[in-house]
Amino acid sequence: MGPFSLEGRRALVTGANTGIGQAIALSLAGQGAHVVCAGRRACDETVAAITAAGGSADALLLDFADPMAAKDVFDGAGYSILVNNAGIIRRAESVEYSETDWDDVMDVNLKALFFTCQAFGKALIAEGTPGAVVNIASLLSFQGGIRVPAYTASKHGVAGVTKILANEWAPHRITVNAIAPGYIATNNTEALRDDPERSRAILDRIPAGRWGDPSDIGGTAAFLASPAAGYITGAVLNVDGGWLAR
Ligand code: NAP
Repeated sequence: MGPFSLEGRRALVTGANTGIGQAIALSLAGQGAHVVCAGRRACDETVAAITAAGGSADALLLDFADPMAAKDVFDGAGYSILVNNAGIIRRAESVEYSETDWDDVMDVNLKALFFTCQAFGKALIAEGTPGAVVNIASLLSFQGGIRVPAYTASKHGVAGVTKILANEWAPHRITVNAIAPGYIATNNTEALRDDPERSRAILDRIPAGRWGDPSDIGGTAAFLASPAAGYITGAVLNVDGGWLAR
């Protein structure tokens, strides 16, 4: 078994029905993990794609409208990988931003992420099992963005939570890292790609000269979950085609 293998591991990926979450689920399964594909809607398409490729997966309904939804998922269930990918974005000028949008975004992107990490960490520490958490942060964990105040705040929060949990859980051999994607072609960025002016402005700022593909993030997540990354913890890794390095 090579250092990148995930054979014998059980992983939970949230928001695995589409986009980045689906690509991460496929990548983890491609390295041999059994992947539980969690979503507020059935992840049948992802499970079917993994199975068709010879991998192993099943689906779980998990709706983070309740941020504590995953609190009983990990006890005695044999997990050693958690990928917190589920996230939402609501766009409006900061002067008009509603309390409902703020609360909804913070609940899914940050509160649910923290309490899902907590449930995972608690179970693994009690069992003495090593493991890996990969949180999906954002380019906006580093810069302000525009018209997405709750999203930006939540993704700064994801970076912070990643670092504190890395500090606390390193002695338990549980790594906690985040991936900060740049602009990836998914539902999340559909409105931007549909606006020719905004789309051009974004593309002009990506040194790699292309929007990211969800598989760019999938491969990174599989690496961070693997033994090869066993001494990496607390990192918030930019996967953005060079945007932030520019
Ligand atoms: P996406 O296609 O919209 O996927 C978001 C996922 O989160 C979907 O599976 C969605 O389920 C799920 N989700 C939303 N609310 C949920 C809830 N209450 N409970 C459970 N699952 C829920 O967008 P994406 O781009 O793949 O986003 C994945 C992650 O990457 C997010 O955290 C996002 O912030 C982050 N990200 C994306 C980009 C980008 O450029 N695309 C850049 C930086 C960071 P439904 O399909 O049911 O809505």
